[in-house]
Amino acid sequence: MTSSTTTPSRKIIHIDMDAFYASVEQRDFPELRGKPLVVGGDPNGRGVVAAASYEVRKFGVRSAMSCYEARRRCPDVIFVRPRFQVYREVSSDIRSIMQRLTPHIEPLSLDEAYLDVTGLQAHRGSATLMANWLRAQILENTGLTASAGVSFNKMLAKIASDINKPNGIAIITPADAEDFISTLPIERFHGIGKATAKRLHAMGVSSGADLRRLPATTLLQEFGKRGQFYHDIAHGRDERVVKSKRTHKSIGSETTFRDNLDDNDELRNQIYEQNDDAFNQMQKKQLIAHTITLKVKYADFTQITRSHTLSSAFSRAESAHYWLDKLFLDIPRHLPIRLVGVTFSSLAPATQQLPQLKLFE
Ligand SMILES: [Mg+2]
Repeated sequence: MTSSTTTPSRKIIHIDMDAFYASVEQRDFPELRGKPLVVGGDPNGRGVVAAASYEVRKFGVRSAMSCYEARRRCPDVIFVRPRFQVYREVSSDIRSIMQRLTPHIEPLSLDEAYLDVTGLQAHRGSATLMANWLRAQILENTGLTASAGVSFNKMLAKIASDINKPNGIAIITPADAEDFISTLPIERFHGIGKATAKRLHAMGVSSGADLRRLPATTLLQEFGKRGQFYHDIAHGRDERVVKSKRTHKSIGSETTFRDNLDDNDELRNQIYEQNDDAFNQMQKKQLIAHTITLKVKYADFTQITRSHTLSSAFSRAESAHYWLDKLFLDIPRHLPIRLVGVTFSSLAPATQQLPQLKLFE
């Protein structure tokens, strides 16, 4: 342990159902169990593979492959028409199980989701126990197996869920991350597609260790803004947040006075009150904010707003007072004021209010 290393404290779970559509078909039609099965296409071999059972994967059949190619590789393949309505229903059951653990869920598709479980007390606070609980609940309620990846960011959690598939779990801890990333082929990094991989190979980069050796400036020159992201993930930094669907855009509170106000102290007290109210709402929803906005409406109904954004978050109601004072000083005072409001935006789950992580530097 070096003292320059800040322990990264996010806990992310990636849940990925095993051969989802194919497994639902095998669950509902026992005669399909143990068979090389493709969901999608038609018996004449037209169309594309939407999902492949593990039995047919042994022949090299993969999703997105043409059904013609699938039959060429596995002549005994059975094609099954997709039943998306059923998959959607199962998916929503799985979502409900996840919601019993946390509201911070980001679905990627019907069969995949990220969960941010940072700071949760359940299951002794262990993300691994939580992931295994999810897998057990999913199996019990749907009859289907899921694999899980546990790590401190999205990229590593997603890669981890693939390691012990099917019906497995893998954990990548901060201590494991450097070695793990070093040996990882660049094709496996988030956001590095075929074209980017080709350019990187031309630059002599084929593994995470190679990528880490490139200076950020080189990557920026070569790939623009994405280059910075590649540099970050090579160093185990992936700050992308788990974005749940019901994300609030902003939370605020405002009040209109019975009589217009002109007194600084009174106005400041009113602003603090709105701030504290907005802050309470935000805390109840387990959110934090990076941006604060002060709104003022004048006696003639014209209005003005002033905002400030912090790179760290507003963590306490009182800490916002300082910024509100500054914003208030910036408000022209040519007329009495009839309304003040405070709004928080750039919201994120409260569990993600963490120090910048510095790994292997
Ligand atoms: Mg899957």
